[in-house]
Amino acid sequence: MADHDDKKCAHASCNCPVKDGSKYCSTFCEGEGDTTDIICSCGHPGCSATL
Ligand SMILES: [Zn+2]
Ligand SMILES: [Zn+2]
Repeated sequence: MADHDDKKCAHASCNCPVKDGSKYCSTFCEGEGDTTDIICSCGHPGCSATL
């Protein structure tokens, strides 16, 4: 096993894997990273708001 951590998005409510070299999965979370939102609206499948 190599050092391949499943790094998750730094957004508190996001479970998406981050892009390589980024703390966030998308520019959305990058902008909302400081916001402790309950719902993630990054738009990635499996991480959208449960409406
Ligand atoms: Zn997300
Ligand atoms: Zn994210």
